[in-house]
Amino acid sequence: MVKTAATVENLVVIGSGPAGYTAALYAARANLNPLLITGFQRGGIPGGQLMTTTHVENFPGFPDGILGPDLMDRMKSQAVRWGTRLVEADVERLDLSQQPFQLQADGRTIHTQSVILATGASANRLHVDGEDTFWSHGISACAICDGATPQFRNEELAVVGGGDSACEEAVYLTKYGSKVHLIVRRDSLRASRAMADRVLANPLIEVHWKRQVGRFNGSDWLESIQLLDTDGKAAEVLPVRGLFYAIGHTPNTSLVEGQLPLDDKGYLITDPGQPATAIEGVFSAGDVADQQWRQAITAAASGCQAALAAERWLTHHDLAITIEREKVEPEAAELPQPTTTATEQDFDPEALWQGGSYALRRLYHESTKPLLVIYTSPSCGPCHVFKPQLKRVLNELDGAAQMVEINLEEDADIASQAGVTGTPTLQLFKDKALEQQWRGVQQRSAIKGAIEKLI
Ligand code: NDP
Repeated sequence: MVKTAATVENLVVIGSGPAGYTAALYAARANLNPLLITGFQRGGIPGGQLMTTTHVENFPGFPDGILGPDLMDRMKSQAVRWGTRLVEADVERLDLSQQPFQLQADGRTIHTQSVILATGASANRLHVDGEDTFWSHGISACAICDGATPQFRNEELAVVGGGDSACEEAVYLTKYGSKVHLIVRRDSLRASRAMADRVLANPLIEVHWKRQVGRFNGSDWLESIQLLDTDGKAAEVLPVRGLFYAIGHTPNTSLVEGQLPLDDKGYLITDPGQPATAIEGVFSAGDVADQQWRQAITAAASGCQAALAAERWLTHHDLAITIEREKVEPEAAELPQPTTTATEQDFDPEALWQGGSYALRRLYHESTKPLLVIYTSPSCGPCHVFKPQLKRVLNELDGAAQMVEINLEEDADIASQAGVTGTPTLQLFKDKALEQQWRGVQQRSAIKGAIEKLI
C-alpha cells in the first residue's frame, strides 16, 4: 500500500448517528482530520434513529434523560469541536475494490485510505394496499415528529408494533389523542419490561393482541383501519385518524452489497465484537452490523472501537497523514439555540429569523420580501436537521428573504388554518400568496432556488 498526497483522506466516516459521531470524535482527537458524510435522505435522516425519539433515559450521563435530537446535537458539536469536517449529503456510490477507496458524494469523488461504515438502519413499512394514498394523510412513520399535528388532536390513534419504539410512541400519543390502540401481531410485547409496564398500566391505551393491519379506509384523510386476526380473517374496525408505524428497521447496507458479506437480513457480518470487515481498512460501527443490541450506547461504543481500529491500521501501514493543531485546546462547542418568540415589544421587522404568531401576522401583511414559514414541534428531530440548513440559506441571501418559525404546540390553530399535516412543513409566501410548500427535510439548493425566483 502506498502513502499518497493529502488529496486522499485518512478516514471517511459514513453516517451521523451515535456510532458515526463517536468514531469521528475519536479520529479527530487522534489528529486524523476525519471527514464525516452525514447522509441526507437515504437511510433516514442525519443524526439517525435518535432524531425520531423523545426522551432517552438510558444514556449514561443524563440522569433525568435527554431528548434524542438534543443528544445528537451534542454529539455532533463535540465531533465538530475537535475538527471533524462534515459533508451534509448522501454517499451515492462506494467502491471498495481498490486502495485508496473511492466514493461519490455531494457531486464529487472522494478518495480515502480507510472507511468506517456507520450507516445504521431505516424504518420499515407495512406495504399494505392504500399505504401510499394515506401516507402523510393519517399514516406516519414518526409519532414523535407528527403526533402534535392538529388533525390528530383528540382523535383515536393507533400504533402498530410491539417493541420499545411502539410502546414509547403509544405513550407519547396519549398526550394528543383521545385514545391510542396498540396493534401487536403476537400475544406478547418485544419491548423491555419497564416500557411494556408503562403501556399496560395506561388507561388510554388499548392493546389488540394477535392482530395485523388489513386495510385502510377514508377519503382525503384516514378514517378507519380494518384489523385481521391470525388466520387473516376480518376482525375489528378501529375508527382511527392516525396510524403510526413502529415495526423495526432494516440495515442500510445497499452501498456495500456485493462488496462485503451480509447476513440474510442484510446486516454486515464481522467477527463478534470486532469492527474490522472482510476488507482491510474498512470498519463497521453501530446498528449496520448489530442485529442484537442496537442501543445508542452500544452504537457509540462500537464507533469508538472502529476509530481506534482504523487509527491502528493506518499507523501500522504508515498511511496516516496527521494534522498539527495550532491550539491544543479547541474553542468551546457551539450548540443550536432555540428560536425566540417575538412579542409586540421586541418584534424586529428586519430580523432574518424569529418565532411565533405575532411575527407571522406582521410579516405576512407587511413584508415585501419572500417569507418562509416553518412549522415545527419541540421534539421533531427532522426539524433540528432542517432549521440550520434554512438559516444558512437566509444568511447566504443576505436579508433578501425572512423566516418565521411556528411551534405547533403553541400555535396549533395557525397550523390548522394552514392545513399543516406534520413537521417540518415549510411554506414560501410572497405578497401574501402561497408560492410553494414542502413537507420534510429538503435540499438547501431547492429552497434557495425557489426563493431566488421571487426576488
Ligand atoms: P424492534 O425490532 O425491537 O421491534 C419491532 C416490533 O415490530 C416487534 O414487536 C415486531 O413484532 C413488530 N413487527 C415487525 N414487523 C411487523 C409487521 N410487518 N407487522 C406487525 N408488526 C411487526 O424495533 P424497535 O424500533 O421497537 O426497537 C429497536 C431497538 O431500539 C431495540 O433494541 C429497542 O430496545 C431500542 N429502543 C429503545 C428505546 C429506549 O430505550 N427509550 C426506544 C425505542 C427503541 P415481533 O415482536 O413479533 O417480531
